[in-house]
Amino acid sequence: MGLEDTCVHCGFCLEACPTYVVTRSEIHSPRGRITSVRLAVQSEGIETCMFCRRCELACPSGVEYGKLIHNVRKEAPLKKAVNVIMEKPSIAFRLIRSSKGLNSPLLKRVHSLLPSVEKPLEYRDESPDLILFPGCLMSISFRKTVERALNFIKSKGYKVEVVNGCCGLSHYSEGDKDRSEFLIRGLKEKFRGRRVVSLSSNCTAHMREMGLQVEDFSEFALNELKDEKINLTVTLHDPCHANLLGINKTTRRVIERLGINVREMDEPSFECGAGGGYFIYHPEIADRVMEIKAEKVKKSGVNLVVSTNPACSIALAFKGFRPIHLADLLSIETHELR
Ligand code: SF4
Ligand code: SF4
Repeated sequence: MGLEDTCVHCGFCLEACPTYVVTRSEIHSPRGRITSVRLAVQSEGIETCMFCRRCELACPSGVEYGKLIHNVRKEAPLKKAVNVIMEKPSIAFRLIRSSKGLNSPLLKRVHSLLPSVEKPLEYRDESPDLILFPGCLMSISFRKTVERALNFIKSKGYKVEVVNGCCGLSHYSEGDKDRSEFLIRGLKEKFRGRRVVSLSSNCTAHMREMGLQVEDFSEFALNELKDEKINLTVTLHDPCHANLLGINKTTRRVIERLGINVREMDEPSFECGAGGGYFIYHPEIADRVMEIKAEKVKKSGVNLVVSTNPACSIALAFKGFRPIHLADLLSIETHELR
């Protein structure tokens, strides 16, 4: 029996699926995608899936949708090339920066989403107690957040090594089995026996699902913090993969411990529209998903959005909101935020 055979076609997953919500098309729904796999027919829907896996949480039959789509997708050469570049953030940074102004729709899209990139932070204390793993996109798009996380960890008395690299979530979501396994094997070797704090919550979730023992930054922070009272109001976005593993609950506990006021948005785990690199390759659907997310954020009445994953933060910033990671909240003087 294949993974697709556990689907009973009930449709409970439909409204959870961002691509169905914006297209109202069965082809672009989890159920439609599963049917195309079962019937072994080519479907455009396999390519338009954002791999947010919200459908898994909605499914009463326990369809392992993420594994199913990973098994059937064939990674396109362009996506494969981009994913390989992202494995080395210092190279990705140089290529993105030097491609500014080039006349390519894809690059124009990249630069409109990522108006500035920075050189990844390189840092290593003598005999480090732990590794800080920012994740590929975080290291080039939110260097200041990485610095703040490093300073917070060091302020608690730890010696740190920053390891810049990629967890392979994008490769996995695009069906590149060999490369995603290769990256996980490399990280297992690098992390062996060492404490690892991961700064991008969707990367934390993926690495855990692949059998790596890593601590999310929210968990590290929760263990180190005492009760505080920060006079600030935020709304919270729940990154999708972190949501699957319940990591966002820890983020909420940190916010609570900091005494920060929260005004919840509707469906905090509704897809931000980024979908890893999806917002580069499928701008039409991604823009419509981002618009729905923006409406939900606007309704909360708060512009400051806690987001612990970089692609989500980029999508939120693109829509005019101010994304903020826990590492920023722990380091910025509150008057800067008002
Ligand atoms: S992973 Fe997300 S986009 Fe893909 S079918 Fe499931 S809910 Fe829809
Ligand atoms: S994937 Fe799950 S929720 Fe969706 S139609 Fe199939 S059984 Fe129902």
